[in-house]
Parts: sequence; C-alpha cells; structure tokens
Amino acid sequence: MNNTVISVKGLTKRFGDFTAVNCISFDVKRGEIFGFLGANGAGKTTAMRMLCGLSYPTSGSGTVVGFDVTREGEKIKRHIGYMSQRFSLYNDLTVWENIRLFAGIYGLSKAETIERANEILARLDITSERDTLVGSLPLGWKQKLSFAVATIHRPELVFLDEPTGGVDPITRRQFWEMIYEAADNGTSIFVTTHYMDEAEYCSRVSIMVDGEVRAIDTPTRLKEQFAAESMDEVFRILARGAKRGD
Ligand code: ATP
Repeated sequence: MNNTVISVKGLTKRFGDFTAVNCISFDVKRGEIFGFLGANGAGKTTAMRMLCGLSYPTSGSGTVVGFDVTREGEKIKRHIGYMSQRFSLYNDLTVWENIRLFAGIYGLSKAETIERANEILARLDITSERDTLVGSLPLGWKQKLSFAVATIHRPELVFLDEPTGGVDPITRRQFWEMIYEAADNGTSIFVTTHYMDEAEYCSRVSIMVDGEVRAIDTPTRLKEQFAAESMDEVFRILARGAKRGD
C-alpha cells in the first residue's frame, strides 16, 4: 500500500497574469493530520481546489490518493472526503435522509448505506434524532454529522475546509477528538483553519503567504525554527510581510 496520499511538485495556478498559487510542493503521508494555513488571499482555497480535483493546475504535477492532479480530477473527487465550511448538510432533510443522500452520492450500495448509517447514529449517539430535521440540531452535532457523512465511503483522505469556523472552544475540542480518531484509523486529514490553537494539534503544518508555501514542518520544529512560543507567533512572523490580504 502506498504511504503517501498527496505528493505535489511545483503546483501552480494562474488567473490571467495573476499567479494565485506559485509552485507549491509537499507530500502528505497516510494517517497524518496536515494543517494548511495562510492569511486571507494567500491561495489556500485555490490550492485546495486543485488537490480535490475541482480545478486543474496551470503547471506542476502530482498525485492525490494515487490519481494524477493534472488529468484525473473526477477520480480524485470520488476517492476523497470533503467537508466545506458550511458543513454541506441539507437543513430541510432529516438526519437519516442526509446520511442516505451522501451515501448515494459516494456510490454506496443499499446494504452498505443502512449499515453505515446505523453505525454513524450509534457512534454519534444520535439514534433518537434519526428523523429530526438537521436544521434544528445544535451546531456541534451538525458539525460531527457533517464529518461522518464526508467519510461515509471510508476515504483514505479527507479535506476539511475551516471545519470549526464560528464554533465554541469546547465543541471545537470535541470535533478534534473525532479528527484524531479518524487519523488513528489510518485516514489522512488535510485541514485549513484560522485558529492557531488548532495548528498545534496537527502532525505537520504548512504556511502559505502570497501564493507560496513559506514554511512546512511539525509545530514543534516550526516554533524552534522561528524562535517562537506558539504557532500564532510563527504565523504572525511569516504573514508580517504579506502583500495580499486584509
Ligand atoms: P481566504 O482565506 O480569504 O479564502 P485563500 O488563501 O483561500 O483566502 P484564495 O481564495 O485561494 O485565497 O485566493 C488567492 C488569490 O487568488 C486572491 O487574491 C484571489 O482574489 C485570487 N483568485 C481566486 N480565484 C480567482 C479567480 N477565479 N479569478 C481571479 N482571481 C482569483
């Protein structure tokens, strides 16, 4: 089994004359929690879209879960999990209907769908909420359910795009327990966040500034390298000279 779930070299995206992502290169290993940080406008979303198979690079090469980022976007999309900032769930469908919908999108059989749906309800301890509209669930539950459906097809790699935006610290902490559990079970996690305490929870972190990856390492080594007390300080040191952003 290949131990590298992402391997990209010189990945670049230009929009006309503007280079949104400039020649980024890195690998992500199986079971890693890889934090993808950057100030507003640094190019994270553009880079992530290329890695998820949603857009093709202008130049560069690489693979995501074994598929070519320059020509196999459709295959990448089917083999990864993706949780967006808005949790992707449908508020006007019930918990059970949402689970079934995502199982269908990911091509699970009827038997697999029922088995995994029941498993999710039991694991999240929400069996009694099976027929509740998702819109009326507390935010923390929605968030956990969203992660569960994003991984219902047991992907090797899941992308989380600012999954904890606007959520209180206790719920965020609980959400991270779920991330750890998935990583322990061999799922690799690629996560963007604005919360620097969350950067500390990652196995490795990359920091983008003005379209380039300026630093990439474990949080401990990054703090050593920049003689910083916290990841927040590392981030501020790197982002200080940014030309883009607010
Ligand atoms: P944020 O955290 O604010 O979402 P980001 O790091 O995700 O920022 P991107 O959304 O990737 O940044 O944008 C990087 C740069 O590329 C920005 O300057 C943005 O204006 C530009 N950009 C993004 N998409 C396009 C596009 N389709 N056409 C032209 N420019 C674009």
